[in-house]
Amino acid sequence: MSTQSLYPWQEKTWETLMKSLNSERLPHALLITGHDGLGKQELAEALVARVFCKQASDRELACGGCGNCQLINAASHPDLVRLTVEEGKTRIAVQQVRDMITHLGMKSYRGNEKVALVYPADLMNASSANSLLKTLEEPSDGTLLILVTARPSRLPATILSRCQRVEIKPPGRDLGIQWLEKEHGKADWGPALAFASGAPVKALELHKAGFAKRIIDLEKQIGAIVAGRSDPTAVASEWAGKDPQLCLEWLKVWAGYLIRGRSLGSLDIISGGADAKALKSFIQNIDLKMFFKYLDDVNRSFRLLETTVNKQSLMEAVLIPWAHGLKRVQPIAD
Ligand SMILES: [Zn+2]
Repeated sequence: MSTQSLYPWQEKTWETLMKSLNSERLPHALLITGHDGLGKQELAEALVARVFCKQASDRELACGGCGNCQLINAASHPDLVRLTVEEGKTRIAVQQVRDMITHLGMKSYRGNEKVALVYPADLMNASSANSLLKTLEEPSDGTLLILVTARPSRLPATILSRCQRVEIKPPGRDLGIQWLEKEHGKADWGPALAFASGAPVKALELHKAGFAKRIIDLEKQIGAIVAGRSDPTAVASEWAGKDPQLCLEWLKVWAGYLIRGRSLGSLDIISGGADAKALKSFIQNIDLKMFFKYLDDVNRSFRLLETTVNKQSLMEAVLIPWAHGLKRVQPIAD
């Protein structure tokens, strides 16, 4: 029995990959991309197993039973190198890449291809990426390099240009909801799915983490700031302390919807709550140019989250404007 599986929205991509594999035209370097929550890693794992499997044919997944499959399932296949961030570290170190290159340069143990899987590839630092580039420029025969990342723009152009991109696209809304209902039953899946940029696996994770209630709370907090009933600094402190990533990601998506809604003349996205009326009239009267500038600031703050920047000031920079007609009142740290 195969231990690999595919999500329904990956089937076409899989078919294309299998066509290349079966006609021995699989490129020596692949870059698997797509939003978080589309199953990039699962697809990469299925491909790795299928490349080694000696039983599967056509479009089938790896058989799960042959010698190679057993070694893959036991995570001990000698011709597979996995490269990821080591525990306690934040980046893939250059020494790890060098070790991988040495390994790829050696003869295959089992007479197969040698495969290297790098994930998340955007977490290589500059020297790691540089070192990897050499392998991409002079690939040895029978090696396959698979890079996986949701953020390909963070990889050097020189790496991107040497990999064939395999992009997993989100399924349509209906297929996404169908999958979610099958996995987890009926629910109001729309908001979580929209927030996850259409990625069903992420929508499911959000749902399990109490997303629906949480976003209503976040919206209420902003409503209260607009209505002058709440101190943005206090809200900032709460956001900084409790899942700042989710708060800012939500703000980014929500503000984007508000801009669109305002242009289309419908602000239905704003749910009820004591300050819904005040919030709607605030959005209807805001200068759109200012709103776009604000959205840029939110995007910038979101990117800064991963740095050592002070989270309280970051949250203040995006929350205080709601008390001042969205005017930027303090600079966003760089
Ligand atoms: Zn097999």
